[in-house]
Parts: sequence; structure tokens; C-alpha cells
Amino acid sequence: MNLKLSFSMLIAATTLATSCGTQKEETEFQYNDERFADLQMLRYQVEGFDQLTLRQKTLVYYLSQAALSGRDILWDQNGRYNLRIRQMLETAYTDYEGDRESEDFKQFVVYLKRVWFSNGIHHHYGCDKFQPGFSEDFFRAALQSVDAAKLPLAEGQTLEALCDEIFPVIFDPTVMPKRTNQADGEDLVLTSAANYYGPGVTQAEAEDFYLKMKEADPDPAHPVMFGMNSRLVKENGVLTEKVWRSGGLYGAAIDRIIFWLEKAKTVAENDKQVAVMDKLIEYYRTGDLKTFDAYSILWVEDTEGDVDFTNGFTESYGDPLGMKASWEGYANFKDKAATERTEKLSANAQWFEDHSPVDARFKKQNCKGITAKVIVAAILGGDLYPSTAIGINLPNSNWVRAEHGSKSVTIGNLTDAYNKAARGNGFQEEFVIDQATRDMIKEYGDVCDDLHTDLHECLGHGSGKLLPGVDVDSLKAYGSAIEEARADLFGLYYIADPKLVELGLTPNTDAYKSQYYTYLMNGLMTQLVRIEPGNTIEEAHMRNRSLIAHWVLDHARPSANAEGITAAVELVKRDGKTYVQVNDYAALRTLFGELLAEIQRVKSEGDYEGARRLIEAYGVKVDSALHKEVLARYKALDLAPYKGFINPEYVVTEDKDGNITDVQIRYGEAYDHQMLRYSREYRTLPYINE
Ligand code: ZN
Repeated sequence: MNLKLSFSMLIAATTLATSCGTQKEETEFQYNDERFADLQMLRYQVEGFDQLTLRQKTLVYYLSQAALSGRDILWDQNGRYNLRIRQMLETAYTDYEGDRESEDFKQFVVYLKRVWFSNGIHHHYGCDKFQPGFSEDFFRAALQSVDAAKLPLAEGQTLEALCDEIFPVIFDPTVMPKRTNQADGEDLVLTSAANYYGPGVTQAEAEDFYLKMKEADPDPAHPVMFGMNSRLVKENGVLTEKVWRSGGLYGAAIDRIIFWLEKAKTVAENDKQVAVMDKLIEYYRTGDLKTFDAYSILWVEDTEGDVDFTNGFTESYGDPLGMKASWEGYANFKDKAATERTEKLSANAQWFEDHSPVDARFKKQNCKGITAKVIVAAILGGDLYPSTAIGINLPNSNWVRAEHGSKSVTIGNLTDAYNKAARGNGFQEEFVIDQATRDMIKEYGDVCDDLHTDLHECLGHGSGKLLPGVDVDSLKAYGSAIEEARADLFGLYYIADPKLVELGLTPNTDAYKSQYYTYLMNGLMTQLVRIEPGNTIEEAHMRNRSLIAHWVLDHARPSANAEGITAAVELVKRDGKTYVQVNDYAALRTLFGELLAEIQRVKSEGDYEGARRLIEAYGVKVDSALHKEVLARYKALDLAPYKGFINPEYVVTEDKDGNITDVQIRYGEAYDHQMLRYSREYRTLPYINE
């Protein structure tokens, strides 16, 4: 599970942006890079890399190579034509000798940059297909002008035939319009362009296929993550899985990953790390999901080293049925000072579980193995690049989590980069109701954002349990949003707890208010800037935030407080603009607690109808008038609603025997340069992967 950038981050404190001389070093690093369409490219600093030993630096380097080597897998997972389209676009971009100042070419460049960002032709977040701003004629002429040997022509295929095959996928808005469709009532498999199911496979067939598999499970107490590492296809009318493994589908990319993992093993920090990598390699070779569980257990239990990584088929947000996992990889090392913060939470996990407002039947008697740390990301790959998570909690297997715990990380240097890049952008002046609230956010916003992420990841996802016999997938398409809501609510409920002051994590008993305000403002209003007019909310984290905020708004009963008789929270108009007004922060905490209890009940009982009702009532719909207003106010600020990161480069020095003697980090590579380089250096798969 991962936690994406929340909008509260955009309004983080701006105090350090002033001309204070002691901050000079920090401001010299350029966090903001180029901007196009709805995207802002950022850079992150790998703080602390210089303090690692040469062996650790070498390990980070090898793991970064492994993390970049699976790039093509994700492109193909996101759509069956993506690898071919990428090659066509990139060739035209580098080799076109026509008018590079024409409007067609400029629009073409924007389109290509968006496709790079999304690892495919659909929006990375909204999942809608991009509409090109250039003409078919322009693109055809551009392709005719380049060396045909560079184009992804099939055996004997002419350029004309290639264009006829691919152009509808790019230009026709009715062809593959959605990467991942979550619209209630439609066949989610047939209507999703994601390449997790072969042509003609229906949702009912896929659900039935995996239900039968589960029913035949000889060890139902320890179920594998059925279907997570394969494409389900129909061959001669019979459903069968094409497993992603060495020698199987995506085998060439996986072999490359194995190559770098073998190198990493030679410089591992300890024997446990070696065992983790060995098991991962075994799983990549066999595709066996029992082996994957064994690997996950070893990975969870490996907490001694400073360097760590994720590499594999991990998150299932891209599959409309929430089973099949997209490929991602990254490498990181521990941020020791910040980790003290999360260790305090972990050490008190049982206290938090015992005192939570959920029904005792749904609580864990024995909260164990929740490790949590703040890390420095060293490279981002696959589904974490360029758009990334800021917190990650793995593994996703419920029984592994219950019996062996999970590892939870907050990625400190990325959060920091978001905050620094957002300084002084005018966002909070526009959307926060008054100066007093802005001051409060300025003072406590950063600390509480980090803490909410910690609580979400370290405690929220790890809390609670399913009742015996409840199927982990019973909430089906609503499962992800409910799980994110559970983790967010756990964080919201506890961020206001005096226990956090006692632990030295919040400075005082008022700081939490900044989080309550920004969370509600985001869920009720500002996250709508990510939605196109007329659309509903589909992404799981956004549904979760909308659900929480609207449920609380709807249940905020009038009560007596310092401001008179008012609801705890309301939407008010000032000078024709809508604002969130909080009248009673303490009452909000009670409401978050009530909703947490209900969401935990839904999860623990596997109450599909309950999940559906809650999410469809509060998490999906958009108030079109408010949406329009928010979009207009946001547009006036001229900010990009989505952000992603350009990676640093690692430059290796070797002696005459090929031993690595130094690893240097280099920043400043241009976005297009990096993307073209990755396509060159990490191109592992054929254009067509059947
Ligand atoms: Zn989460």
C-alpha cells in the first residue's frame, strides 16, 4: 500500500524561503524543474549519501540499476501498445528534421512528455487517455521522415500498416479510453485498457477464475496473492495465466533485474540481506507465489541494515479488480534521526491499538512486528517514477502482515522536496479561510503532515483484524479506498491525542488542528483540482479523502462551543468564495473516531454492501458548482496539480580490475535526456509481449 502526495503538502510552511543567509545552501538546490500540461517536474536530494560507506554506496548503485531495469514491464502493463508508441514518439522526437517550431511539433512534445510521465498513453492519476494536440497527418509525415529501421515495425510490416494499427489507439478517443475503469455497473475488465487481462476476457470470467482458485486452496489460512504476477488470457477459449517470470512473460526484463540483484548480493550489508535477495531471485525465476510469500517474510524480518529496497510486482491499484500488481522498484537508506520519530510510534503500537475507538472484536490482541522508519530515496523506478508515493507499507499479503508484521516507510527527502518546491506559491492564501488558520498551518503544517503519514503507515495499515472466515477480497473494487480510509482515520484520530505530546512527537495539544483543517479542505475542495470537469472521483486515495471529509461534514451536528451554536465544520461563502470553516476541532476528533469504528467494522466483517454504500455516497460524487469554482480559483494560481521527480544519476569509478572504487551522485540531468537515456539503457522487452 502506498500513500500519495496529499494536497496539504502544497501549502507547507514557507518560512525558510526568505533571504536568511543560513539557508543559502538549501536554496541553491533547484527543487523545481520544467513544467508542462498539468505536471511539474521536481528534483530530490539524496541527503546523507556521502556518509555511506563505499560498500553501501555500491549496494545502492546496484539496487538502483535493478530498480530501473523493470521500466519496460510497467509500460507494457499499462497498455499493450505502449512500448511501440513510445518508440514511435521518441524516434520522431530525436530524428524529425521538419519544422520543430511548428504548433504541431510543440504539441507533439507536450504529448510525449505526458506519455513519459504516465509510462503510457493514459493519465497516471485520472486514467483517461490523453488527447493529442497534433494532427495525424503531422505524425504520419514525421514518421515517414525518419529511418524506418528505428521504428517498431513487425516482421514484414510497412510504415503505413503500422500507422493504421496504432493511430486509432493514439487519436481515436473511443479506443481504449480508460486505463483502469472503476465505474460501478460496467464490465471493469473489458472496459479497462490496462494489459492485465487478454482480449475478450470478461470481469465475470476473471472473478470466477480466481474464486475457483481460492476455493481449491489447500492452505486457505495462508493464501497466496492469487493472480498478482500474471496476465489472464484466453487461449482457444480456455482461461490461462501467463506468468511474469524468467523464461515467461517479461522474462527478458526479469533476467536483467536478476543480473543486478546478483551483483547487489556481493556487497550486501549482512547475511539476512543476502537471503532476501536469494529468495527474490528464486521467485523471479519460478514465478511461484508461495516463494513470493517466503521472500516477503524474509524481507519484513530484515531490519538490521541501513540500505533497503523494493523490487517487484507490488501494488494492485492499476488492476480494476485489484489483484494484479504493477512493477515497481526503488532503493533507499535509513534517515537515522527522523527514524527515531517512527520508532516511538512502533514501540507503542499496542497502546494505540488498545485505545482506538473500534470494536474490541476487531482489534489485534498482539500488535507485533510493525517496523517503521524514515528513509532517503536514492532512486525511483517503475510505478514509483516519476510520480511517486511518499509513504509505503509492505507487504500487501494480509496473513503475512498478521503473522510477521509489515515494514512501513516515510520517504523523508521526497516530502521535503515537495515542501520546499511549494514555498510561496499562493495556494494557502487562496484556499485557507483566514490568517489565523494560515499561521497555524505555517507553524505546525510540516510536522503534522509528516506525523500523519507516519501514523497512516506505521500504525493505521497495521491495525485491526478481519473476523475469522472473512475473505480478504470481499470488498472487491472498494477494498483499496476502504483500506486507505482506515489508515487515514487512524492517523486523524490519534494525531489529536495527548499521547503524542507525551511522546514528544507533537509540540502541544493544538498542533493537530493544522492537519484537521488541511485534511478537510483537501477532501472537500482542493483535491478536486485533480478531476476533469464532469468526471467523478475514481482513484482510491482520493475516494478515501472525499469519503472521510464528506461523511464528517454530513455528520457534524450543531453543538454549543466558543463560537456559539454551530456545526463542528461547515462550508461557508465569503466574497463569493467557498471556504472550510472549522468551529469545533475537538468535535471533529469524535467524528473521525466514529467513522474509524464503522470503517473498521466494514473491513473486519467484509461488508461489501456497507463499503459500497459509504463510498458511493461520500467518496465518488463531485458537487459540480463547487468543482467549477475550485478549478477557476486554482487556475488563477497557475500551479501544476501533479508532480513527479527526475532521478539523480550514479556515476561509478572502477579500477583496472573492474572493482568499484567510488560512486558519485550527479544531479541536473534534463527530463527528456533522462527519459531517452532510460529507453536506451534499460530497454529490455520486445515491442510486443504476447
Ligand atoms: Zn496507505
